[in-house]
Amino acid sequence: MKKAVIYSRVSDPGQVGGLSLDVQKEKCAEWAKKNNYQVVGVFKDGGKTGTKTVGREGLEDMIIQCQEETIDVALVIDTDRIARNEFDHYKIKHVLKDCNTQLIAISQPMIDDSAEGKLMDGMLASINAFYSRLTGRKVKKSLEKKIQDGNWPGWAPLGYKNVNLGSEDKPNRVIKVDKEKSFLISELFRLYSTGNYSVDEMVDYLNDKKLRSKTGKKMYRSIVYEILKNPFYVKWMRYNGKLHKGNHKSLTTPEIFETCQKIMARNNHNACRRRKYKWLLNGFAYCQECDARLYGDGVHAKNKAYYHGSARNGCSHYIPLDELEKAVAKEFKKIQLSEEFIQAVLDKAKSLVKQSRESRDSEIQGVRNAIKKLEDKRNILEDNLLDKTIDKESFKRKHQDLNFQIQNLENDIATIENQRGFDVDVIEEVLKLTNNIYEVYCDASFEAKRHYLAIFFERFDIKDKKVAKVAYTPLFKKLLNSRKVRVSRDWLPGLDSNQ
Ligand SMILES: [Zn+2]
Repeated sequence: MKKAVIYSRVSDPGQVGGLSLDVQKEKCAEWAKKNNYQVVGVFKDGGKTGTKTVGREGLEDMIIQCQEETIDVALVIDTDRIARNEFDHYKIKHVLKDCNTQLIAISQPMIDDSAEGKLMDGMLASINAFYSRLTGRKVKKSLEKKIQDGNWPGWAPLGYKNVNLGSEDKPNRVIKVDKEKSFLISELFRLYSTGNYSVDEMVDYLNDKKLRSKTGKKMYRSIVYEILKNPFYVKWMRYNGKLHKGNHKSLTTPEIFETCQKIMARNNHNACRRRKYKWLLNGFAYCQECDARLYGDGVHAKNKAYYHGSARNGCSHYIPLDELEKAVAKEFKKIQLSEEFIQAVLDKAKSLVKQSRESRDSEIQGVRNAIKKLEDKRNILEDNLLDKTIDKESFKRKHQDLNFQIQNLENDIATIENQRGFDVDVIEEVLKLTNNIYEVYCDASFEAKRHYLAIFFERFDIKDKKVAKVAYTPLFKKLLNSRKVRVSRDWLPGLDSNQ
């Protein structure tokens, strides 16, 4: 009998998610039975709880079993169980393939080794990644609103604390001065501004005074630098590169803060920042005349980045980065998908949205349960203090820690709730994706762009700073042959005649 392993995962808040671990497992087991597979391993990962992202031990264990034994198939309910971004997705699939284990997403019958299935697979991975970026953006919007009202939505910097003035149902979270710690922060600014102390001396001073970070760590250099550089202490909140006036109290004066910045700048002359370029087209672009690979390079001219071939291959052609990347993007303009194909992708998107609605409710319930447990713990702790079975110091520390965790989880609920209303966006986005790959490509992140490039194109041959010839991936060629996709005519002259 052929062998199967099952993997299930509960999604993070923000991921298009699905069914509970048990339901996922059952459905996969059902599928295995129906298709005559013996289930020899069941693995799971719990997704995100609270603030800590739980590792992917389950996934790793599953892969190890596939490497050690002959496992024919690895079953998941859908592809977003396996990976949270497109690169992971392909990496994992590849590893499994090396063990001769086929990955099967049982609720996505189209995902198989056919060309159509592979393209679908790739696009869904991109949609999943897009979806989580969208989530991020929505959350950001609600954060921006809070910032504009002068309320810091995140964790309070050292010297302040997060306080909820509202109720559990209607939270009103504000930043208050943490009286135990604020004095030391004020002293830090004052002493450092005299110019008589180094940052290291300030680190020692704060450690002598037993100041600890939010997570209970000793002070060290970078924490103290962060504090000294943070305009939050003079009522300015830094967000998205802009400063916003906050409602909280200052812990030092603008003059002292300014002086500290100057002293740091003076002492920090070795902080050289090198601009990092990411080369989108490395591995894709070739100089047609010299048959040389084109590489990105940022030093050819001042402040300009270029792609060029290596002199070793006798290529001395330079193409400005912008120009070449734009020319390549235009190749996406020429791709059209068939109605039939778009419909299939859309159906899948609709089912993802349905699942995400269901999962959001269950995720919120899960977080609520976790909060309840912490609150119970807090009650016991309070009893312990009354019974005198715990000393005041430990009580304080543990109590604070519990409150911290509870607040964290409440923030998680807010984040999940913020996602309501995305669903329509996702459908729209999928339509946009299938109708206009070009636009989606242009808006995509660097990683997603590389991914889109890899789905469709194998290489671009460049001549006279233009795309002279395009080689499609075998997968895309197959789709072209079966007329699931089309490319517009104007670029056909560049197509190899022998495909
Ligand atoms: Zn050349």
